Amino acid sequence: MRRSPSPGCVRSGGGVIIGVASGKGGTGKTLIATGLAATLARRNKASVLLIDCDVEEPNAHLFLRPTICWQEDVSLPIPKVREDLCTHCGRCAAVCEFRAIAVARERVFVFPQLCHGCGSCARRCPQGAIIEEPRVLGTIRAGSALGALQFADGQLQVGEALATPVIRRLKVRALREGCGADAVILDAPPGTGCPVVETLRGCDFALLVTEPTPFGLHDLELALKVAREALGMPVGVVINRDGVGDERVSEFCMQAGVPILLRLPFDRRIASAYAAGKLWVDELCEYQEPLLELYEGIAAGSRAPG
Ligand code: SF4
Ligand code: SF4
Repeated sequence: MRRSPSPGCVRSGGGVIIGVASGKGGTGKTLIATGLAATLARRNKASVLLIDCDVEEPNAHLFLRPTICWQEDVSLPIPKVREDLCTHCGRCAAVCEFRAIAVARERVFVFPQLCHGCGSCARRCPQGAIIEEPRVLGTIRAGSALGALQFADGQLQVGEALATPVIRRLKVRALREGCGADAVILDAPPGTGCPVVETLRGCDFALLVTEPTPFGLHDLELALKVAREALGMPVGVVINRDGVGDERVSEFCMQAGVPILLRLPFDRRIASAYAAGKLWVDELCEYQEPLLELYEGIAAGSRAPG
């Protein structure tokens, strides 16, 4: 395993907030997020909050086995039109930028799956004909694990496409209740779309997990565009399964000025522990020290002035 010093990052109001992301699934993002959080908790190095923001397919709980202490539904206010009051003037449809409401000659149609619950149509209706009803998008929950670890995750309803409001609410409530944590680790969804942007927004540091393959390089380039170029975040890279591919990811990082903070070697024991639903850093304690150094490098950067 080889490690490099990390760059500085902007310190948040409470502890340092690290978003763990990758351009696609299957690169080891959850492996790193859970391994880092569990190591900090096990070694009593920091009070830690892990938020699994992959609300379409949350799986950090499989390894951490948290005890859940609260759960809540996340919903959006969806318009419902009172036809007895509606004059079919069309103003609601004109103001909706998501084309979630359409006005025909004698009827108004609402398309809940397209609606973002912004309320513009209700505010614009001159007849007061639009009332709002909640539509549940998913659930969020939180609890504790390993004795010292705070945990939160969310689950999108089956068939639901709007992950962003669920992630937003998950972050707000989990961060509010875990505001005393020294370290907050967010496991982002795969990809580079709106759910990833919502996860990384407000983080102090983006830890991008990749693997040394052509696909890994391609997805790292995309993730870097989101984290560094679009969001202006300090970034660092973890290369997972180091040794299986080539040096192109390393060369790219050098040319792009992105520090490689950790190289996790290809180790069948890690894959076996992960596949068995075991916490890999408990099974393979030799990996705890490099993960601690990874965290301490990022946290030290967050404390550095400027
Ligand atoms: S703005 Fe109000 S009155 Fe006009 S079409 Fe929409 S619901 Fe009906
Ligand atoms: S609440 Fe917003 S997104 Fe939904 S239909 Fe009304 S204007 Fe469109």
